[in-house]
Amino acid sequence: MLSVPRNKALPIVNALRRYSSNVAPTTKLFINGEFKDSKATQWVDLHNPATNEVVTKVPVSTQAEMESAVESCKEAYKTWKQTSVLTRQQLMLKLQAVIRRDIKKIAANITTEQGKTLADAEGDVMRGLQVVEHACSAGTLLQGESLQNIARDMDIVSYKLPLGVTAGICPFNFPAMIPLWMFPMALIAGNTMVVKPSERDPGATMMLMELMQEVGCPPGVVNVIHGTHDSVNFICDNKDIKAISFVGSDRAGQHIYERGAANGKRIQSNLGAKNHAVVLPDANKEATIEQLAGAAFGAAGQRCMALSVAILVGEARDWIPDIAARAKQLKVNAGHEPGTDVGPVISPQAKQRIHDLIEAGIKQGAKCVLDGRNVKVDKYPNGNFVGPTLITEVQTHHECYKEEIFGPVLCVMTADTLEQAMEIVNANPYGNGTAIFTSNGSHARQFVNEIDVGQVGVNVPIPVPLPMFSFTGSRGSFLGDQHFYGKQGLNFYTQTKTITSLWRKGKAEAKPSVSMPVH
Ligand code: NAD
Repeated sequence: MLSVPRNKALPIVNALRRYSSNVAPTTKLFINGEFKDSKATQWVDLHNPATNEVVTKVPVSTQAEMESAVESCKEAYKTWKQTSVLTRQQLMLKLQAVIRRDIKKIAANITTEQGKTLADAEGDVMRGLQVVEHACSAGTLLQGESLQNIARDMDIVSYKLPLGVTAGICPFNFPAMIPLWMFPMALIAGNTMVVKPSERDPGATMMLMELMQEVGCPPGVVNVIHGTHDSVNFICDNKDIKAISFVGSDRAGQHIYERGAANGKRIQSNLGAKNHAVVLPDANKEATIEQLAGAAFGAAGQRCMALSVAILVGEARDWIPDIAARAKQLKVNAGHEPGTDVGPVISPQAKQRIHDLIEAGIKQGAKCVLDGRNVKVDKYPNGNFVGPTLITEVQTHHECYKEEIFGPVLCVMTADTLEQAMEIVNANPYGNGTAIFTSNGSHARQFVNEIDVGQVGVNVPIPVPLPMFSFTGSRGSFLGDQHFYGKQGLNFYTQTKTITSLWRKGKAEAKPSVSMPVH
């Protein structure tokens, strides 16, 4: 079956109103355990991508508000870091239960603000929830190391300790999952965190904060500010923030990596992607086409792990008409409508950029065999819809190949051999994800061994690792050295303290040792 699930109709719950002031639909801040109206003078209108109606206004937090968020985190850290690991685990156990209870409510908000289908939005929450579940085993994950009798009467033990105030800066495309990659992992390790959700869809984060309130998170342990460049720069420059987790575009991520690191901060920065599917002619044709269609066009192609390039090897090049036919069947509509496969893209600007990149591909010699640019969605004439689009004969110098399109567009290339296909993938600057489709184990093994990409699927189109592993995009898709969630996530949010103890029986040494101790 296609992995863009069809779903039942649900009313759109404009849950944001619960966080909005009575006089105007505005998004609040969450500081020191309370939802607060912002005193901002600048606001960002947030539009429903299916209608372009304003859902809420998001404040660009003032300097004073951002400072108070960090101050509150700093104060809360003094006691939060002393809290027992079991208490922190209990908080996460309670949190996972209430997120599970509210999945549909949070998903409805995501569909309203971000546009994806309700079923896909539930997946967004669910993949974040899995990180919370994993954080519940902090008692094991946070254990350090120890060795007895490292020398006579001497033992060594190391602890994983928190860093202090941390910050998370999020993109628009996974409004629940990505904040949940960040604050549960930071908090379970004893840190506090300032979260800056995307200004384009902060509603899911605000709902998660209400849940944090409900489960008794102490005030100030997690705070939320809003804004764009200025709030990001505030985070990069603030001396009390010790580490920044970022997920988003190359431009913002490189800037944050450089500016944050120049201010002495630890940074993990997940960037853009161009993910290739390599299709061998011995693959199961029907299953592969289903997987390709789901991974290229699901979430309207706005996933960092979307398969946006298919390299058809040998006779698999004859599958193009079947891929186009399958893509054409996908239903484009508002995300909350029953049976929708492909919802709108985030903004009119994003839609225009996608159109432009398709046009650039055609001008440079590629063929558009399925054109989604003129798709009509009668009930939502103002929505940012782009239908599934298939561009063939794509070359590596084409703009549509070089740029991350971030829309429902599949670029199709061909290769004579697996080696040629791998050369294309390995020459691409990005290294987020890739997948091979084959029934030949030795080809699959060769691919796994020789492909230079951080997350590899074998007959699995979107190989996003579960939280007991880490999200390991590589090369141009990542800056830093410790990845999100899993063991690496906890390493990122902790520092190691190593204690060497000598408890000698009997009398101390009679004379001082002036040479280098070698134990
Ligand atoms: P974005 O970079 O525009 O925004 C991300 C965050 O950075 C937002 O909070 C935004 O306010 C801030 N920001 C934006 N531009 C900035 C700038 N010039 N200076 C400082 N801050 C800035 O990203 P987006 O459009 O929200 O998200 C889509 C991008 O994120 C895609 O490139 C996608 O591949 C990437 N992404 C990557 C992963 C991953 O794990 N590798 C996951 C999800 C999304």
